[in-house]
Amino acid sequence: MYTPPQVVIAGAGIGGLTATLALHAHGVDAVVLERAGTVRAPGLGINLLPHAVRELDSLGLAEELSHIAVAPGAICYYKPDGSQLFCEPRGLEGGYDWPQYSVHRGELQMMLLTAVQARLGADAVHTGVEVTGFAQGSTTVTVQTTGGDKTADYLIGADGLHSSVRAQLHPGDDPLLWSGVLLVRGATTGVPIPRRPNHGDRQGSRRRRAGCVPHRRRADQLDPQAAPGHCWAATCRRRLEPARQPV
Ligand SMILES: Cc1cc2nc3c(=O)[nH]c(=O)nc-3n(C[C@H](O)[C@H](O)[C@H](O)COP(=O)(O)OP(=O)(O)OC[C@H]3O[C@@H](n4cnc5c(N)ncnc54)[C@H](O)[C@@H]3O)c2cc1C
Repeated sequence: MYTPPQVVIAGAGIGGLTATLALHAHGVDAVVLERAGTVRAPGLGINLLPHAVRELDSLGLAEELSHIAVAPGAICYYKPDGSQLFCEPRGLEGGYDWPQYSVHRGELQMMLLTAVQARLGADAVHTGVEVTGFAQGSTTVTVQTTGGDKTADYLIGADGLHSSVRAQLHPGDDPLLWSGVLLVRGATTGVPIPRRPNHGDRQGSRRRRAGCVPHRRRADQLDPQAAPGHCWAATCRRRLEPARQPV
């Protein structure tokens, strides 16, 4: 008789939760261990390109996603003086079979969490449990956590930028490199820039750049009266010197 493998996933971020849903779609119920005491919804705007939307669609989340996201029809680049460099159609307008979406990162994460809990049960995600390491056996893996050891057939490390799973798999020198670029993000309401709704926008030079993407919910919370298409997540990007130093 077939027994589904036991899978532990470290991290209830976008990656870990999506992996959980994908495994569930193939008959494997994973257990997610999340270091944070509660899964909150930090972050700001994140852009999902059509190939990512296709994956979420295949997990049955297309409709829900469309309710929390905006689908930009184009991305446009401008010089510092405001004159347009070029405009490129995106998503369905760009000929893809799936839209491109701008969505609040935290709301996307919460949508995934809700789907995981609805499909696998409320206790599928164990919060307040940090994965500290693992010991590989011949057929199983012992996952070491702050809540004690857990034995599984597979461990998936989806524990983010400073992954402890990855650090153990790839020890030694592999420092994160400072790109020299500083990004500052915020959400606001305002007249669409350029004055066409649902267009992403980048403006500036190589050293300094600002970008805006349309937003749906978060700016609504800033200003419930904001008209559709008047909510924006803005990114200010500035190249600092020197670049490429380990962080
Ligand atoms: C706070 C935050 C805000 C962000 N905002 C944006 C944004 O506005 N726009 C954008 O484009 N991208 C943003 N990103 C980046 C983007 O969300 C990630 O690059 C992408 O989602 C990668 O997701 P992930 O699941 O691999 O990792 P993450 O989203 O980093 O999730 C990793 C999860 O693992 C947990 N974790 C970490 N270590 C352990 C451990 N040892 N044991 C158990 N759990 C652990 C963390 O608490 C976290 O919940 C943000 C990321 C974060 C963390």
